[in-house]
Amino acid sequence: MNHLATEHELDTPALDVAGIRAQFPILERQVHGRPLIYFDNAATSQTPLAVIDTFRDYYSRYNANIHRGLHTLADEATAAYEATRETVRSFLNAADRREIVFTRGTTEAINLVANSWGRANLEAGDEVLVSLLEHHSNIVPWQLLASQLGIKVKVIPVDERGVLDLDAYRALFTERTRLVAVNHVSNAFGTVNPVGEMATIAHEHGALILVDGAQATPHQTVDVRAIDADFYAFSGHKVYGPTGAGALYGKAALLEAMPPWQGGGEMIKSVSFEVPTTFADVPHKFEAGTPAIAEVIALGVALEWVRGVGLDAIGAWEARLLERATAAVSRIDGLRILGTAPHKAGVLSFVVDGAHSQDIALLIDQLGVAIRTGNHCAQPLLAHFGVTATCRASFAAYNTLEEVDAFADALERVIGMVR
Ligand code: PLP
Repeated sequence: MNHLATEHELDTPALDVAGIRAQFPILERQVHGRPLIYFDNAATSQTPLAVIDTFRDYYSRYNANIHRGLHTLADEATAAYEATRETVRSFLNAADRREIVFTRGTTEAINLVANSWGRANLEAGDEVLVSLLEHHSNIVPWQLLASQLGIKVKVIPVDERGVLDLDAYRALFTERTRLVAVNHVSNAFGTVNPVGEMATIAHEHGALILVDGAQATPHQTVDVRAIDADFYAFSGHKVYGPTGAGALYGKAALLEAMPPWQGGGEMIKSVSFEVPTTFADVPHKFEAGTPAIAEVIALGVALEWVRGVGLDAIGAWEARLLERATAAVSRIDGLRILGTAPHKAGVLSFVVDGAHSQDIALLIDQLGVAIRTGNHCAQPLLAHFGVTATCRASFAAYNTLEEVDAFADALERVIGMVR
């Protein structure tokens, strides 16, 4: 194609998209007789062969329960599981491996903080600030605490672009504000939030900040120390890894002071009916029961894979995909993009006059294109914008400009059919 290079193209570090695609067998499949175009990456990204092979390798060679075994297989499984802790530590630039707790994903990580830190530190009248951009998983755990402990959940508003209003944020703080819970990147609109600045403001008011990084980790380098996050949560399945494994980062001093949340094996030092039961040191204090061993090991492989490709290159490539998609769909009559923040990750949310989002998603699937429709677990945000659902296309490293063009053509066709 003969065109002048855009700013993004000039800045884009090289990404071998064809070479990346070759590592994702699922991208070879057909859907309804057409090549799959997978634009539902914000819900779950696909996994490369290196991650898929980890499962075969684990179950073929060293499947064993971890930590207490005195045999070779248990040692190997433990070493691989704990090696992922180091991988996550360096992926997030945490100071210490003890600050990484494995969870099933972001939801469980946030619930851990709410139930352990929250119950130990919050009382009636205390305040937690959440943003209007939050996924339900960073709203409902705080609402549950509100009904159980009598705390207040206050909402940081957004402007018409889906950008958080930082003046309003500052004004929400009172002497009862204890925690800010905010996402790094919005799954519904793609807004990238200034979490570092928000952390500074929270700390100035003596409050902690929990950052939901589910949508940031796949697209940009995350440095929990540069952000000065007190807690940071993410899910493996959104960052080219498996479902069932994610992590919570927490500052060591906070984790050490927090009580266990779930009780059981693995999280104790000694159990007795006569004297008080004692608990393992962090992070194992928060990892009760047999964890998702193979999934955690595969999560480590996924993060190494992402690092190998390069998050700067991935982010820049996705910015190009987003730019192309935004320009293409903007030409469609009656289509309105929700979420027009100047700083966005690869998420394109839209509604179309006279066409139901669900109909669009169902029909475009017939053309091989997978997008998501619905409220994206962000009902308060969508209600604020006067809609109950949007269509959402979201991009990953393996998506191509040709796919974006094919998606835009398919979308126009489908809209023509339903209007
Ligand atoms: N937070 C955000 C911003 C998300 O996008 C998601 C998933 O869509 C979650 C939290 C929940 O993640 P999980 O379902 O992996 O726990």
